[in-house]
Amino acid sequence: MKNSPKKKTRQINPGGDNGQSNGCDPVCLQLHLMLKKKKISPKMAGVVKSNSTSKAKIKAKDKTDIPKPQVNFKEKINNDPQPFLHKLKEKPYSLKPLSFQERDSHPYEFELENFTPDPIFLDVKNDIPLLPLSKTPLIMIDSTEGFEHLLQDLLLQTVIAVDLEHHDSRSYQGITCLMQISTGKSDYIVDTLKLWDQLQPLNQVFCNPKILKIFQAAENDVVWLQRDFGIYVVNLFDTCQAASLLGLKRKGLAFLLQHYCQIRISKSYQRADWRIRPLSKEMLNYARGDTHYLIYIYERLKQDLNSGQFYGKLDGSSIRKEGKEGLLKKCHELKRSKASKTTANDTGVKRMLEVWKNSRSICLRRYKIPPKEKYLKSYNKLIEKDKNFNRQQLYALQELCAWRDRVARDEDESPNFVVPNYMLVTMTHHLPNNPQHLLRCCSYAPFVQQHLLHIHGIMLKARELDISSTTTKETRTTSETKEQYKKGRKRKSTFSFAETSQRLTKKRAIGDVSSIAKKSVLVTKTHRVELTNLACEKKSPATTRKEKPSQSQNM
Ligand code: AMP
Ligand code: MN
Ligand code: ZN
Repeated sequence: MKNSPKKKTRQINPGGDNGQSNGCDPVCLQLHLMLKKKKISPKMAGVVKSNSTSKAKIKAKDKTDIPKPQVNFKEKINNDPQPFLHKLKEKPYSLKPLSFQERDSHPYEFELENFTPDPIFLDVKNDIPLLPLSKTPLIMIDSTEGFEHLLQDLLLQTVIAVDLEHHDSRSYQGITCLMQISTGKSDYIVDTLKLWDQLQPLNQVFCNPKILKIFQAAENDVVWLQRDFGIYVVNLFDTCQAASLLGLKRKGLAFLLQHYCQIRISKSYQRADWRIRPLSKEMLNYARGDTHYLIYIYERLKQDLNSGQFYGKLDGSSIRKEGKEGLLKKCHELKRSKASKTTANDTGVKRMLEVWKNSRSICLRRYKIPPKEKYLKSYNKLIEKDKNFNRQQLYALQELCAWRDRVARDEDESPNFVVPNYMLVTMTHHLPNNPQHLLRCCSYAPFVQQHLLHIHGIMLKARELDISSTTTKETRTTSETKEQYKKGRKRKSTFSFAETSQRLTKKRAIGDVSSIAKKSVLVTKTHRVELTNLACEKKSPATTRKEKPSQSQNM
């Protein structure tokens, strides 16, 4: 039987502990015991009672004066555009020994491919417990002793819920700032910035196929765990995948909470600066809310998968054959040998296994360091917004984007923090030809000041280019660079726009179009477009697109 949802919608007040107390969670016996045994510090428990509710602290999305936590990491962050090498030091629950030769591969690929969820996970519960937030201890883990306690507790569990909070405006690749783990009895919040280099032992839990890890929309979390801590997930149930199979109209956590728990949450802290310490009570409540209800939602989702309670068009027929022949067959064999209290029906089992299979695909994702061509993505976005850039401006903008990406990698900042897009566009519009004017385009941009000579050089080079060129640049360049970005093609095999335009300008200067045409057999499709246009240009000087001179050529 299904748990009947309570009629009244409960509203979670991030600051108000679900409206049940005056701001202090009733710290449970467990927490008192741990304090008594000095397993956790009073400071850790004290965070629960934290009173720092200042709005400025909470909403500091773009707060830039927080010291960068990366400086305290033992291993320096490497932003070089190279293959990502796994960080595993040891490999618990391995079926294939850890290889240090193939560090660019997924170290748990073999284990994941041979993974089948234990039949106990396919049971459907009738009575699903849900301890209210107010009756659940919130335990902050920010010390080695606290972490050891967490690990011991997690090793006793069969199901846990996990989520991460992330920050990416003062970091090139992004950093995981918090890890929330709920066991059904406790909500843990791990200060991952403090314990950054010590978290890999969590693989004893995360790679243990007998412990189920529930995440909501795990695509990012899975790769962030690999990137920052060398943590991998074996046995994942992604509630978003289940919602998708059920055909629920929305798959986000806010919707699932509303649908299954009649709880409304505000997602206003989603974009908060999670590096802030100490975390305010509101932020802590928001963070724990992301995992606290997930085990309950997982059980409810399984009930619906089993009962055939579909909300959209999907039905059992959508389950692909491989599922039946692979995971399903193995699981059925196991299941027959073990009686369980509440056994799911065959179709229900098939649907559940489909969720496990889709979740396993997420676990097989591999983190990739953004390739060298990443800057072309911003460049393409900007030229798509403003289609009137002339040749000089296109050159300048591409060079500025490339420079910004290099600086962002070197300084471990986001490109937008180095120079925001609007400043790049202002510089591109004006192409200032002296450093003072250049600085006037960028009211506060320390990196522009630091690299003034280089940027000035870009402006001068841009201005040297022939402005009267007549190609449908934005179309050609966009498709060319997009392609280049997608394929991660190397400079050797294809010219960058800057190189191409310089080459062609040179050729045109000596008025020898035919000499280029002779080489047309060898050139790529994009170059052929250029040649066609050049030929047109020779016949008729009429432009194929309106050229706009720089707004201030004499600036
Ligand atoms: P969540 O899975 O909702 O806990 O989100 C994890 C992290 O993803 C957050 O800490 C943010 O860094 C980022 N994030 C989630 N949603 C958004 C959003 N709408 N805009 C920007 N960042 C987001
Ligand atoms: Mn998440
Ligand atoms: Zn979250």
